[in-house]
Amino acid sequence: MTLTLRSALAGTAVAATLIAAAGSAYAQPKEVNVYSYREAKLIQPLFAAFTKETGIDVNVISASSGLEQRIKSEGENSPADILLTVDIGRLEDAVKAGITQPIQSATLDKLVPARARDPEGHWFGMSMRARVVYASNDRVKADAITYEELADPKWKGKICIRSGQHMYNNALFAAYLAHHGEAKTEEWLRGLKANLAQKPSGGDRETARDVAAGKCDLGIGNTYYWALMKTNEKQKAWADATRVILPTFKDGGTHVNVSGVVLTKYAPNKANAVKLIEWLMGEQAQHMYADMNFEYPLRDGIAVNPIVASYGKMKPDDVPLAKIGDNKKAASELVDKVGFDN
Ligand code: FE
Repeated sequence: MTLTLRSALAGTAVAATLIAAAGSAYAQPKEVNVYSYREAKLIQPLFAAFTKETGIDVNVISASSGLEQRIKSEGENSPADILLTVDIGRLEDAVKAGITQPIQSATLDKLVPARARDPEGHWFGMSMRARVVYASNDRVKADAITYEELADPKWKGKICIRSGQHMYNNALFAAYLAHHGEAKTEEWLRGLKANLAQKPSGGDRETARDVAAGKCDLGIGNTYYWALMKTNEKQKAWADATRVILPTFKDGGTHVNVSGVVLTKYAPNKANAVKLIEWLMGEQAQHMYADMNFEYPLRDGIAVNPIVASYGKMKPDDVPLAKIGDNKKAASELVDKVGFDN
């Protein structure tokens, strides 16, 4: 086990180590430094497998916020090589913060579908998650639904959802904007708000809990949470009371978001960083994404976990993620305008 968690260490200590190594006659140290928003539980086994295969140590700093700012303030001395995160919004924020550099890799260009990477190469998706409906088994008969229909008055008082400003909903609403434009999106958000059973609150698992408790008939949540509940003794009842319906846009597919990476502007271990990013698109890592966190592999030909497969065949919507990133601010403003969270 070569993974070290350094969240308690100051960045300067890490930087000092690297400067010392660079001053020696030896080649680049066999390590790579990752700043991560992803949970240690998921990434630790991934990085351990990478180290075992390549001999390259992975040093991780985990946090739930502020990593872009940290990399920015560390500037040229930042030890960070890679920022690992979820959500297209966060990936684009990192690029806008000026802390990234394009990744030149024929392997990645081949393995990561064009819609799930930055046209300029500044960010790459590694895995996908879909934003779907958790439907009450007792009270909902439908087995198909469109995102547009979520605003249909027939669902009045029947839908539960977390904050409209949360990044997962923000990306969904930004995708709606890409399909329908601003006026129609505003109208849809008003309709969806009118259908809510309660003020937006909690997280995706709580929406399933509330459907199970009879507070609402439909909850909006990400695909992996349902599988995580299904395999969690304490939350299994919430999954058992519901089923996943994969909604689609009327003229498209199911909205997906990504987990992904950026390479930092001053990455001190750039070659190792690119090697790690390419490794994350390898077959072993993609299987780990599929089976440990119930995500959809981005690489073609990797089977999804059987629980995820039970949702049915997922056809990702073809609006490019970069476009969703562009619409994210407008979507957030509409959420405020319609008082979605009030
Ligand atoms: Fe999540």
